[in-house]
Amino acid sequence: MTTPPTDPSTPEILRSRRATRRQLFVATAGVIGAAAAVRAIGGGLTGGGGLIDASGNPLLSGAAEAESPAERLGPPPPPEVEPTGVVVPPDGKIAFPIDPSERCHVLDNYGDCRGGGSRAHAGVDIMDERGRTVYAVADGRLTTQYTNATRIGAGLGWTLKADDGRYFRYFHLDEFAEDLEEGDEVEFGQVIGYLGATGTDDLENNNHLHFEYYPSGPLRVANSVDPLDRLDLPDDISVGPRLGGCAGLIPSV
Ligand SMILES: [Zn+2]
Repeated sequence: MTTPPTDPSTPEILRSRRATRRQLFVATAGVIGAAAAVRAIGGGLTGGGGLIDASGNPLLSGAAEAESPAERLGPPPPPEVEPTGVVVPPDGKIAFPIDPSERCHVLDNYGDCRGGGSRAHAGVDIMDERGRTVYAVADGRLTTQYTNATRIGAGLGWTLKADDGRYFRYFHLDEFAEDLEEGDEVEFGQVIGYLGATGTDDLENNNHLHFEYYPSGPLRVANSVDPLDRLDLPDDISVGPRLGGCAGLIPSV
């Protein structure tokens, strides 16, 4: 791992040391191509929310999808994209937690009303393409691994408890990084998953990372703060609009 620069105004790129990351990313790009092919031949989402191939078989992940009939019938997969790695932020800032594409857009929606006004949104949503790489923004431990079985609406996700006492939550991942389990220690810049739409009601068009920030514990939504105020946003990332929030309500997911 590279040591962060002493001059915080000089961003530094960290690249993954994990050989599996590139393999997983390429596999995910193949999934996108397969999914497009399913749409082209009239397939789509099943009642259970999963993608199916031309024969009606569920598309799962990785190599199984690459060999599906939809893959053979469809257009070539998108070109291989090499993740650029996390950018070391200036002091006091939080690293941008994904490898953004040109289509990346951050919604300024911390505190927006949810549940018909009964609660508020405890994070920001970073919209981007399915499969974009998601990073640990601090050294720490993955204290909770989420699935729909552990928290409705989270989809696949993590709580990262940083060694300095901060907490971060990541929801709606498409996949977890290979070999990571609840309780594992991670390092700043380590790949922890891939952006998706799990836990949402639109798996095809709602790909984003729901990202929460807690400057200190305990991990209660009332202790959350707007991550957008601290995120080290890439220069070309669009942000907004601000809808005004849900005044007076305690944020929750
Ligand atoms: Zn969200």
